[in-house]
Amino acid sequence: MTSDANVLAQAAAAAQAFLASLPDRHVGARATLAELRAALGGLLPEAGVAPTQVIADLVRHVDAGLIAMPGPRYFGFVIGGSYPVAVAADWLTSAWDQNAGLYAVSPAAAVVEDVAAGWLRALFGLPATAGVGFVTGGQMATFTCLAAARHAVLRRAGWDVEQDGLCGAAPITVVVGAEAHATIFAALRYLGLGAGRVRTVAADGQGRMRSDALRATLATCNGPTIVCAQAGNVNTGAFDPFPEIAPLTQRRGAWLHVDGAFGLWAAASPALRHLVAGVERADSWATDAHKWLNVPYDAGLAIVADASAHRAAMSVTAAYLIPGSSDQRDPLDWTPEFSRRARGFPIYATLRALGRQGVAELIERCCARARRMAERLAAAPRVTVLNDVVLNQVLVRFQPPLDGDADAFTRAVVERVQRDGTCWLSGTTWQGKGAMRISVCNWSTTEADADRSVDAILRAAVAIS
Ligand SMILES: *Cc1c(COP(=O)(O)O)cnc(C)c1O
Repeated sequence: MTSDANVLAQAAAAAQAFLASLPDRHVGARATLAELRAALGGLLPEAGVAPTQVIADLVRHVDAGLIAMPGPRYFGFVIGGSYPVAVAADWLTSAWDQNAGLYAVSPAAAVVEDVAAGWLRALFGLPATAGVGFVTGGQMATFTCLAAARHAVLRRAGWDVEQDGLCGAAPITVVVGAEAHATIFAALRYLGLGAGRVRTVAADGQGRMRSDALRATLATCNGPTIVCAQAGNVNTGAFDPFPEIAPLTQRRGAWLHVDGAFGLWAAASPALRHLVAGVERADSWATDAHKWLNVPYDAGLAIVADASAHRAAMSVTAAYLIPGSSDQRDPLDWTPEFSRRARGFPIYATLRALGRQGVAELIERCCARARRMAERLAAAPRVTVLNDVVLNQVLVRFQPPLDGDADAFTRAVVERVQRDGTCWLSGTTWQGKGAMRISVCNWSTTEADADRSVDAILRAAVAIS
């Protein structure tokens, strides 16, 4: 294979063409599995292919299998798009190809993470001394935070879990809300705490942990205890009542972890900050930059108030490493990875481009679009919005014209909308009821996009009535 400078310009042009197509592109995928396999498959070639040919083929063959996920009318799951400045910094991150593990290996990557960590703590109103790890996503953020929690609650019980493992340690009680995200349970599995050993606390009609139920559960817990709460329910967007939960866990000497994958960003908005009141009293917070900050994957953030517990759980030493001096940050002290991408660059660039005001406007704008969609949908006949739209999430249920099955009808509306391609969203089951789930977390979604999407949704419901 020859080096081929043209291939970079070719890729940049293809990337820009894709981004330019987003406002009008059919949002869902258009290719079938068989078509994608036929276009992309085959045996590993014996002889190589020219890089410009490879990139040209790749762009052509994946196109129909791409989803306009960074576009303005993608409302599936909780995804977020990418600001152009974030993509630009991400391109440079790949080109610079820095191993971000150690200060000695990449001083620039280490300093950029250090600076961005400070900006993020300030933006979220979290302690200035908290540890911040730049991880792959919310899953690893929660893993990292709960590893720090495991360290701290066992250290208080006189046990060194990093040296001695869990065998023989006092059992840790893990308390979760009934609406805890699936990634909490995966993290507990990775940490040897067991997904099935949790104590579950009842939630209310919006999915918020009930503090009276937490109080009752904590009264029956002995020994090392970790409580996992949530800022931003993945269906309703609701927030657990931190002003009540934080004192309860503190009094009990328990560790309080908050899954704020997207909801923690409410802290960045003066208008929405009340939703996370008290969240700063937790011990650890997991959040994502690839969701609501609109930077490309992978970008999760693990934040731990007790930086020494964070570091004790994550740091790695080896004879051949060159540890940074006390005022130099070694990024591998804060994440589960050793060698890794310098994922601080896109976050740094995006925060700098937006400023505090720009981040607040992004969050508030998405919530306003969600409210607009909810209001228009709720005003239509036989359409119900199931949740209080406090943030960016909307749950919608459709009643068929005659006395039919609303679950099946709602599912059919979701499928029809997906096929139509004006926008993309998915279904869910909320407290036993089938629902369409709309998540607005893209910087580029305009009021016109919100309206065009509502029109498409209502058109789909009429078409199958
Ligand atoms: C998305 C999400 C996660 C998982 O985050 P990833 O970045 O996908 O790993 C965890 N919790 C909540 C509430 C989420 O919305």
